[in-house]
Amino acid sequence: MAESTDCVVIGAGVIGLAVARALALAGREVVVLEAAGAIGTVMSARNSEVIHAGIYYEKDSLKARLCVKGRDMLYAYCAERGIAHRRCGKLLVATEATEVAALEALRVRAAANGVDDLEWLDADAARTLEPALKARAALHSPSTGIVDSHAYMLSLQGDAESRGAVVALNSPLKSGRAANGRMTVEVGGAEPTTLACRALVNSTGIRAQQLAAALEGVPAPTIPPLYLIKGNYFSLGGKAPFRHLVYPVPGAAGLGIHLTLDMAGQARFGPDVEPVAEANHDVDAGRAPSFYEAVRRYWPGLADGSLHPDYAGVRPRTRPPGEPADFIIQGPREHGVEGLVNLYGIESPGLTSSLAIAEEVADLLS
Ligand SMILES: Cc1cc2nc3c(=O)[nH]c(=O)nc-3n(C[C@H](O)[C@H](O)[C@H](O)COP(=O)(O)OP(=O)(O)OC[C@H]3O[C@@H](n4cnc5c(N)ncnc54)[C@H](O)[C@@H]3O)c2cc1C
Repeated sequence: MAESTDCVVIGAGVIGLAVARALALAGREVVVLEAAGAIGTVMSARNSEVIHAGIYYEKDSLKARLCVKGRDMLYAYCAERGIAHRRCGKLLVATEATEVAALEALRVRAAANGVDDLEWLDADAARTLEPALKARAALHSPSTGIVDSHAYMLSLQGDAESRGAVVALNSPLKSGRAANGRMTVEVGGAEPTTLACRALVNSTGIRAQQLAAALEGVPAPTIPPLYLIKGNYFSLGGKAPFRHLVYPVPGAAGLGIHLTLDMAGQARFGPDVEPVAEANHDVDAGRAPSFYEAVRRYWPGLADGSLHPDYAGVRPRTRPPGEPADFIIQGPREHGVEGLVNLYGIESPGLTSSLAIAEEVADLLS
């Protein structure tokens, strides 16, 4: 006879932990199954740690709505819990006259998303804020910030556990099936077990498609394609010359190689866009020349030899690079399996949106 619980959340990244917290706060019994030996070791440990304002996303998309809502929820949560974060602001920079129109278009898009605090800076005003910056014009986003994502995840885990949730590490979900309004899942690891539940949340990041395919009853046509897009980062040796985050005007794919700061003030540049067939997190030092070139467009003072290969993260996109891709949150209405929510394509701004995504998922399961 299988052990049974109310809700099973698969994956203890920032999304699974936020969902577990939301379900536990709603009074549900929750077990989180995590394949790795620790929480938050995959995408949630390999990103820019930026709290995005909500500028870039298509109007009325889930990314636009959940980023703006999640941003406000995240700032409030961090303030309340004393989680290290900084509303440092960012500059979105047009380095050539030809990019100024794209900057204007971003201001319009941001306003449509409810981001109404952007400030237009001419070249002199941008240089006054950041003397090392090369800019024809810039948009200042005061509501962009950074967060200590690991401290944030530990806090989410603590909230969930204090409401009775259990986080089981080294517990990979192998397969599952739905019958009579219940799901039964097979858990691997040192002590394989079978678990029955009423609600199942697939928040396995880059593995979400693979996992959904292992759940009997999920119609294959509802599983979106997966494009793994690696993003490499290089760190800066020495002190950062900027107080704000600095982003170029985005290209066809990705937000562009930007400068982000961590809570210790260390600067790093990335992520670039490298389609890969399999996820891997090695950073090839041979990619350095493209980083120097991209960064020098907005920071000509970057010295030779100052960039060092750092880390990489892999984005789980559901559309090829260059095409807009939204978050996909599929409940029973979309796939027909009672009690199941599949989360696909939770790339950036997933960290920013995590509390809003969790609320959405908990509502689907209420
Ligand atoms: C390069 C890059 C930069 C980014 N920058 C930002 C940013 O600045 N701001 C922002 O808001 N967002 C950013 N993001 C997005 C953000 O990092 C993600 O949206 C978020 O971390 C996704 O969390 P997750 O929990 O869905 O996935 P993950 O953190 O990957 O967690 C999934 C978990 O599922 C587990 N798992 C997988 N398979 C199984 C299984 N079968 N059984 C049990 N467990 C399993 C994994 O071990 C993992 O712990 C970035 C992403 C990338 C890749």
